[in-house]
Amino acid sequence: MPQPLTVVMYHYVRNIKESRYPQIKGLELDLFIEQLEFFAKHYHVVTMEQVLAAKYQEIPLPDKALLLTFDDAYAEHFTHVYPILKKMNMQGSFYVPAKTVLEHKVLDVNKIHFILASVTNVHDLVLSLKAEIEVYQHEYNLNSFDDYFSEFAIESRFDNKEVIFIKRMLQHVLPEKLRNIISDKLFKNYVGMDEGAFCRELYMNKYQLEQLVRDGMHVGCHGYDHYWWNKLAPEALTDELEKSKEFLASLGCDMHNWTACYPYGSSSYDVVLELEKQGCSLAVTTEVRVADLDSDHALLIPRLDTNDLPKQKNAETNHWYQQA
Ligand SMILES: [Zn+2]
Repeated sequence: MPQPLTVVMYHYVRNIKESRYPQIKGLELDLFIEQLEFFAKHYHVVTMEQVLAAKYQEIPLPDKALLLTFDDAYAEHFTHVYPILKKMNMQGSFYVPAKTVLEHKVLDVNKIHFILASVTNVHDLVLSLKAEIEVYQHEYNLNSFDDYFSEFAIESRFDNKEVIFIKRMLQHVLPEKLRNIISDKLFKNYVGMDEGAFCRELYMNKYQLEQLVRDGMHVGCHGYDHYWWNKLAPEALTDELEKSKEFLASLGCDMHNWTACYPYGSSSYDVVLELEKQGCSLAVTTEVRVADLDSDHALLIPRLDTNDLPKQKNAETNHWYQQA
């Protein structure tokens, strides 16, 4: 029998308009609260433990079951999201890239977000990137800028083609060492803040994560370095997961029921096999669909984005509700 589960994915949840980076793409806190009220009215918000029991012990989920997931362990997930969830008696599942907590390094993905949020015209950034590619072309044996642009500048559901181009180039197209060099340079030029200080402001720390675990929230694996898992060599992926698991264990997570969230939704057949080998109980992707616990593989659970669902508490349900 089908067992629908709506999994919702959140990233930034903050008072964006009043923040230092009003251009950052995320969910305004007041809309987050309204969306939870909407869920309380139309869905049953369930815990990860309930989801695992439904998948593995055939204990059925309630009707219109919904699971809340928060990626990247931003500080606002502790300061803003957690108290609201507590008040509404809901559990969140928080996916943490361990490096941010252990090394106080800003992930390249976040550097890119804040670089983008700090420029007035994205085209300037494309030109800066073009200049960098030309400088390093010979040393790193790169293709021409035009070749890269025609291959990777393809708009997505949420971003125009120049934004996607910058994200792709700095997330995985350029060689890792060069990506780091260029991201650092652009971060210094456009954001202009000390990385350590910025990091402490952006992400949760270990004590906050321990508090979430102690208080019945779910905390799971989002890699060590937030790399695309399906682009890593097998040994590098093993290492990513082992280091991340060690970190989760140090937070007090239940390592018999650990779960994962693919950075950038980077799943593949080989990655699923490795997660299986390492004993992962459940993993969430970025495939946009309501999950069916009966037919979906536990390590390939699709999610909806917060933007796919209504954000006003009195809104009508949308088409995803029929499938929920
Ligand atoms: Zn992430």
